[in-house]
Amino acid sequence: MYDPIELSKKTEDIVIKGDLKKYYRFRATRFYGGIATADTVGCNLRCKFCWSGNSVWNANNIGEFYTPDQVLNKLKNIATKKGFHQMRISGGEPTIGRYHLISLLKKIEPGFLFILETNGILLGTDKSYVKDLSEFNNLHIRVCFKGSNPKEFSFLTGAKNGFEHQIRAIENLKEVNIRFNIALVTIKKDYQDFINRFSNIDIEIEDIFLYPKVRKRLDKEGIIGYFE
Ligand code: SF4
Repeated sequence: MYDPIELSKKTEDIVIKGDLKKYYRFRATRFYGGIATADTVGCNLRCKFCWSGNSVWNANNIGEFYTPDQVLNKLKNIATKKGFHQMRISGGEPTIGRYHLISLLKKIEPGFLFILETNGILLGTDKSYVKDLSEFNNLHIRVCFKGSNPKEFSFLTGAKNGFEHQIRAIENLKEVNIRFNIALVTIKKDYQDFINRFSNIDIEIEDIFLYPKVRKRLDKEGIIGYFE
């Protein structure tokens, strides 16, 4: 088992160089009604159901370094071509590399909404990061919980801790004026306690897709039965 904070630091050493960050793909996707997407490299969790492969597990050997300007230009080109008004980063954890992310957000024009999809680990451990993010009006944060309690979090991610960081991320976000919602990945049938805990916040349940590589990973771990 690993500590997500230690893993964040190790991952940052691999995927960040000054204000550059590693990405491996730029694409248009249908999510949110159409959104320009930059797929980044590196994550501070190892969710067993994760659709990302090498970008999470093999960050050393995938992707290339991009400046915030280069990322923005790629996203803008896709958005303009497709008539999209939204942008996001997927494939890994976008909050790794704070300077890179903040620099990118500063460059995004008001006509675009940036949807920050995050596991919230780093937003729960550093209030000042959330404060920095609250400066942007065209930002929506989607915090995706991996499990509805600490035990399920550890089962789904293989991490020894981290659920409490996700909870603290929500507390930190509530303290500032920022748009956010919660997504929950769970294999439990009863997650009412989780819903009750966040009674005034919009919560969506995120589906787990058993892509062949995900199925293979779960099979190898002998836990596919929990996900079917
Ligand atoms: S937090 Fe997201 S990108 Fe990271 S391992 Fe989990 S599902 Fe994959």
